[in-house]
Amino acid sequence: MNLSPIAPRFDLGVTGERIAKQTTKEKEKIMKSTMEEVFGPVISSYSRAQAIEDGFLVDMSEALVPCPFKYPVAMSRAAYEETIANGGAWLSSEGGGNYQYLQLPAGQDIKGRAHDVFWMLTDAINHPRHRSWVCACGFYDTVSSVYDAKICPKCSEQMTAEPCQRVEFAVLVDIHGNGRKTKVQLYSVCGPGDTAEAVITIMLQGED
Ligand SMILES: [Zn+2]
Repeated sequence: MNLSPIAPRFDLGVTGERIAKQTTKEKEKIMKSTMEEVFGPVISSYSRAQAIEDGFLVDMSEALVPCPFKYPVAMSRAAYEETIANGGAWLSSEGGGNYQYLQLPAGQDIKGRAHDVFWMLTDAINHPRHRSWVCACGFYDTVSSVYDAKICPKCSEQMTAEPCQRVEFAVLVDIHGNGRKTKVQLYSVCGPGDTAEAVITIMLQGED
């Protein structure tokens, strides 16, 4: 899969089924970054927000279904293509606007596929092997879900999920709309985002 920086940006907005094509502004940004590479020195860490804007990450926070997680969720482009968009076709809008629509086979839609991913991840997170919370007071809990708020029963302070915990799970995708489902192996990590808030990222197993 080509993950070049000029890949179109996904925009899961109000309808969630359209993407904005690369805008002039984005082209200018890429041009600018190329200029900076040549003439430097402008080196900064590649932010999550920038990765979403560039299309490397797909923001799932507004993916039409109630997100079961209180933290922002994003999927890598590869994970998104293998699950949410697999077997779909990007069609231009009839109005000739600057958008494309994802048409999935056999009446499937983004909403349903996103639900499947969220549901399978929730199920995996709730498995005892993935539960771990720590408190500054030293209390350690293996009972509650990783991505929910948790108050320490010992000192009543907010506990934190162990950072960057990896949760492996799989989702079945009906790629061709014929009922024959393909298992896609995924994993999620929960870690600090651009402003140190907790964020969840879903990737294909094998991706880093
Ligand atoms: Zn405590």
